[in-house]
Amino acid sequence: MSTFLDLGLKEPINKALTDLGYEKPTVIQEKAIPQIISSTADLKAFAQTGTGKTAAFSLPIIEQINSSDKNTQAIILSPTRELAVQIGNNIKEFSKYIPDLKVVTVYGGSNIEEQIRGLKRGAQIVVGTPGRTVDLINRRALKLGNVKWLVLDEADEMLNMGFKDELDKVLDATPETKQTLLFSATFPREVEAIARNYMTNPVEITSGEKNQGSDNVTHQYYVVNERTRYQALKRIADVNTDIYAIIFCRTRRETQEVANNLIKDGYSADALHGDLSQQQRDSVMGKFRKKTIQILVATDVAARGLDVTELTHVINHKLPDQIENYNHRSGRTGRAGNKGISVVLVNNKEKGRLRSIERIIKKKFEAKKVPTGKEICQNQLMHLIEKVKATEVNNEQIEEFLPSIYEKLEELTREELIQKFVSLEFNKFLSYYNKSADLNDLSSSRDSSRGRSNDENMTRFFINLGRKDSLNPASLIGLINDQKIADKVEIGAIDILDTFSFFEIDKNFEKETLDAFGSNDPDFNGRSVNIEITKSNRGGGGGRRSRSGGGGFSGKRRSGGNDRGHRGSRGGDSRRRSSDGGSNSPRRSSGDSNASSGFGRKRKRD
Ligand code: AMP
Repeated sequence: MSTFLDLGLKEPINKALTDLGYEKPTVIQEKAIPQIISSTADLKAFAQTGTGKTAAFSLPIIEQINSSDKNTQAIILSPTRELAVQIGNNIKEFSKYIPDLKVVTVYGGSNIEEQIRGLKRGAQIVVGTPGRTVDLINRRALKLGNVKWLVLDEADEMLNMGFKDELDKVLDATPETKQTLLFSATFPREVEAIARNYMTNPVEITSGEKNQGSDNVTHQYYVVNERTRYQALKRIADVNTDIYAIIFCRTRRETQEVANNLIKDGYSADALHGDLSQQQRDSVMGKFRKKTIQILVATDVAARGLDVTELTHVINHKLPDQIENYNHRSGRTGRAGNKGISVVLVNNKEKGRLRSIERIIKKKFEAKKVPTGKEICQNQLMHLIEKVKATEVNNEQIEEFLPSIYEKLEELTREELIQKFVSLEFNKFLSYYNKSADLNDLSSSRDSSRGRSNDENMTRFFINLGRKDSLNPASLIGLINDQKIADKVEIGAIDILDTFSFFEIDKNFEKETLDAFGSNDPDFNGRSVNIEITKSNRGGGGGRRSRSGGGGFSGKRRSGGNDRGHRGSRGGDSRRRSSDGGSNSPRRSSGDSNASSGFGRKRKRD
């Protein structure tokens, strides 16, 4: 087994690697480092994601850089700003014991003047995104005439993102004599084309099989439908008490929606996508790396190549459009020797795509059942108990309060005390998941289910009025609002039938609703009104064909004017809930926007 010194790296680099805890080279490093040091031939490297490819191309460059020459000698192109920053930071760490070696990272959305000043001071290594790199070349702030190494990292993604012209431009600005190093985790046709067009007789090295995923990742799938997708997502987060995850979405809009819903439901989450300013993106990434945020909801592009160690899960909220991207997503976990889980939420139609992914990753997906409320409660409870056991007691500080505390709790037995304490922390979770639906029973929550609600936190009421009484969704909402049930009550699905109807009300206001209708004794067009809680949320022979929108996506609900399951909404209706799922969480209670379950989860800080 070789050491970094054996591969030809000098002591200052070795020392920096030891500081970072790199004990021995990875396979790709073992192959790439001596090759790049000993030869000027171009190189095409297939490296599984998370195997140390950044060090594989950076270390031999750092080794050979002439640090007494201030000219730019290496240019490293990467598709995203986050990845460029990450590579730049890695190079700074690797070269910290090499005096005068400077690296500057350039990317769009950030102050260009500052980057120009950095370049003027002299940077032997420049890491950049294609667009900003070209911009700086055009402004003559970045001169690539002395470049000896050009690295194209994640070249396929740069092409996918439409950077072909920029790549041509950078290539044009570099001398013929340079060595081109192309590192990629996957090798679709487009990348082969780059290799053909931009490289001369490249040496090919590989670490593991091409396109194969990391061995440390377990792949799991859950079958959901559009109405249970978000609820299933929350349950997966809830059952994994220490989750630290990236949730991948296909579009910026989907990303923002999922993040908004999670935030409203009290999860420590945030979004990362291209519509955010660079400052916002940096801030989100900073918080995620520090684990202030436990769940990052991201687009493929924004989170491509991100190196965040210790991620417990990657969750595919929806599968990527291009199957190859699954590998990039799942490769965010199971890094640097850690184990990770890549989860996919699929509906019945999408299930077939799993087979194609299995062929690429050469691994089988495990079928998983969406956790039940009971399983979640059990996990959360045990987590709470473990936390209590691990809590350190600061005797000195609490000593003076103890006598009065003991006195107050004197009449409670040990068992009572434990029960009360657990209930204090746990009641919210228990009541949320109490009687919660089995989300694996898709037949009962099919998208096309008739007259059924799948909303765990809603109570379904029967009302003795129907179409024959000229009742429609708008007049029913008006009638409910007139009863002044409480300050803010959510009205859920409405089913108007011929002689009677159904409507849903936030479960927490069951009693208030019955009381309000009971004491007001309203009439509707001269008919006295009766309401009752229906026994079950299922059945009831509703006339609704479907309810649009998933388990918790705002802006997609239909309102008024049709018979497809209306949400209680009316122009300027203050009782309408602000966002779906807002009250659907054990982490939140009305009027307590910051309520946290306290189950090992950090509160959202800002
Ligand atoms: P990369 O594939 O470059 O994104 O690297 C994946 C992760 O592995 C990063 O967190 C690196 O810091 C880490 N890493 C890279 N090389 C080594 C090594 N030789 N020993 C330990 N960790 C490493």
